[in-house]
Amino acid sequence: MGPVDTIKVKQRKIFCEGDSRSSLGHPRVYLDIGDSGDVDCPYCGRRYILEEDESKDDRPQP
Ligand SMILES: [Zn+2]
Repeated sequence: MGPVDTIKVKQRKIFCEGDSRSSLGHPRVYLDIGDSGDVDCPYCGRRYILEEDESKDDRPQP
């Protein structure tokens, strides 16, 4: 297994559906980042990390 994918997000309520462009996709699952500041997707194992960002930059995620 390779290193765990980590994805920085700026909100606590996120969803994951894996990599929809490949066979690694999975049904959309909603995840809620708690006080630990991160959460692992139970389907694909990606780790979502809450990024505290003071800026008001609201660029959409790719
Ligand atoms: Zn996932």
